[in-house]
Amino acid sequence: MKYVIVGNSAAAVGCINGIRKVDKEGEITVITYEKEGCYSKPMIADILVDLPEEKLIYKDKKFFEQKNVRVLLGTKVIKIDPEKREVVLDTGIAENYDKLLISTGAKPFVPPIKGSEKEGVFTFTELSKAKAAKEYITKNGVKDVVVIGSGFIGLEVAYFLRKKGINVYVIELLNKVLGKALDNRGSEIVEKIMRDIGINFFFEDTIEEILGNEKVESVKLKSGKIINAEMVIVAIGVRPNTELAQTAEIKVNRGIDTNLFMETSIPDIYAAGDCVENIDITDNTKKNLPLFPLAFEQGLVAGLNMAGKKMKYLGGLPLNSLKFLEEVPVLNAGIVEPPDSTYEVLVNDRFEKRGYYRKAIIKDNRLVGFVAIGEVDRVGILTGIIRQKLDVSTFKEKLIDIDFGLVHLPKNWREARIQQDKTGYNDWRPEE
Ligand SMILES: Cc1cc2nc3c(=O)[nH]c(=O)nc-3n(C[C@H](O)[C@H](O)[C@H](O)COP(=O)(O)OP(=O)(O)OC[C@H]3O[C@@H](n4cnc5c(N)ncnc54)[C@H](O)[C@@H]3O)c2cc1C
Repeated sequence: MKYVIVGNSAAAVGCINGIRKVDKEGEITVITYEKEGCYSKPMIADILVDLPEEKLIYKDKKFFEQKNVRVLLGTKVIKIDPEKREVVLDTGIAENYDKLLISTGAKPFVPPIKGSEKEGVFTFTELSKAKAAKEYITKNGVKDVVVIGSGFIGLEVAYFLRKKGINVYVIELLNKVLGKALDNRGSEIVEKIMRDIGINFFFEDTIEEILGNEKVESVKLKSGKIINAEMVIVAIGVRPNTELAQTAEIKVNRGIDTNLFMETSIPDIYAAGDCVENIDITDNTKKNLPLFPLAFEQGLVAGLNMAGKKMKYLGGLPLNSLKFLEEVPVLNAGIVEPPDSTYEVLVNDRFEKRGYYRKAIIKDNRLVGFVAIGEVDRVGILTGIIRQKLDVSTFKEKLIDIDFGLVHLPKNWREARIQQDKTGYNDWRPEE
């Protein structure tokens, strides 16, 4: 059996593990256009605060050797030909496959902005881009940076730049940080922490033009304000990278469409990770959930199926953490603002006096989301309760206590051992 995996990141690693659980002999080839090996994408911003590149390695050469995987770095797949069962590389060579995984991830969304071709404009979703941005800062003695977008990536980049003593100006179209990813109170707390370390925010505004000769010198906002800055980082969000799938006319919605076995609309071609439309288990809708642990899990399920073991992927839980924020831990999962009055909301806000904030969202006696700020010990139990769709009616008030633990659960559940997961915290960290 010949397996080809396009992409060399979370979903690819999951897929390799899945295949090797079943098939120890088959040939596996991984192809990636990036020149770096298999690194942890969630850690690329750490480069800005001088984390050595080798600390970003997610799976080293030994992993690929042990799993007997051939890796083609710096090689782009430009076309899939399902008739011939082959992928065409930018070298002109074709690789044939029996089973193919597309794990091409997501690409940064860059809106058309006048002046964006100038030197000093960067996106921030790949290691090479992060390294280039850092080099530009050093070479040009950059002192002021404009970050467009206050999502997770934008805030992380802003935070690390500020830690390096750079003046940071975050421009956000909405009236709060983290948009729909965090509830209003959570956003307010995060914004205050970021302002306290000296980050500047411009809400309900956007960039009209990037000014300067060849290099960025300033930006003009829609409101008319001018900000002097030598660099702009565009962090508005990511979109599934579906270009390659489209060369084979694979069905694509908001991401590549797959069935529960992670198989695409074309037999023997599977897809996993940020490039697919995922199932959100909190509302059972399909959406883009670009998260590392989910990409890994989908890859694992795809790999098992590719090797012949039937296994369903039952969806993922959106779970975010502001892992970079040293001051206060922030973690949230599932639905954070109720979409209508059929949801029950419980809040325990002692942030000002005691430094913590907890919120639980409940629908039909099932926990469907929470926010935990300041104190996040044991929140893994909450994600376990969401995943297992447990009836919380007898102890729901306890969910927002900071000392909420297994002891508060009915005895039979404690014995059945609620699965506690720490996804979003540690899954993406390189192995020691
Ligand atoms: C700055 C940053 C911070 C993040 N922080 C977190 C976090 O805290 N927690 C979390 O859960 N997630 C986080 N994420 C998201 C997480 O990194 C992704 O969900 C995860 O990496 C997705 O894995 P993937 O395998 O689907 O694709 P990706 O990691 O996007 O990798 C795609 C792969 O496909 C390759 N590729 C694409 N097209 C081709 C082609 N045509 N030919 C050959 N190769 C191709 C690329 O080279 C790459 O190897 C963060 C992302 C970024 C950028």
